Formats: sequence, C-alpha cells, structure tokens
Amino acid sequence: MTFRNDETIQCERCGRHFTWSYGEQRFYRERNLHRPKRCPKCRAIVNAERDPIQHVPPVLPPQPQTKRPREKAPLPVERPSWWNPSQHKNNVVLGLLIFLFVVALVVLLVVMF
Ligand SMILES: [Zn+2]
Repeated sequence: MTFRNDETIQCERCGRHFTWSYGEQRFYRERNLHRPKRCPKCRAIVNAERDPIQHVPPVLPPQPQTKRPREKAPLPVERPSWWNPSQHKNNVVLGLLIFLFVVALVVLLVVMF
C-alpha cells in the first residue's frame, strides 16, 4: 500500500526500489537520521554483518541545525534545587528510582522470608 507521502528509494546495495513510508520518514526525522540508502532487507544483512548481536541501526551524528539559536533566557532566580520547576523532571526520575529501590527491597525481603 502506498500513500501520497511515501517515497521510493533505489537501494544502494541491490539496486531494487523500495518504499520509504511516511511513517518511517517521520521516525527518521524524529531521530535526526539520514534517509536510508538501502532497502530493509539489505539493511538487515549489513547490520547483521556489522554486529551479529545487535541489529540496531547505527547512530548517526545529528544533522546541523539550520535554526538560529534561541535568544538567551533571563537567568532563573536562585532557589533550592528541589523547588526549581526545571528540575521537576529530574525529581520525577529520582522519585521513580527511589520507588523502584523500595520495591526491590520489599521483593528481596519477601524472597528471603
Ligand atoms: Zn537492497
């Protein structure tokens, strides 16, 4: 099934044409990846040859951003780190880690007794 936004690319390795679907294009854009040069089959073969354990596509260097750098934001007011809203995400991660640690402890105790 092909959509309007699908792209046809000729494989660098086997020369066959393959469809680069709109969904895949979005996936690549979100991860800042270059457009594929090889069809999925050849990609799998090349990846398998490169690393027989990991079949993960190579991480490519991020493409240079054409956007101008954002204007400097005013310096935040000094507050304790736990209060700083920008630290909120870190706090969530920290909380999750503590939670997991406690769960692990409880599991350990249950297993031991
Ligand atoms: Zn191919």
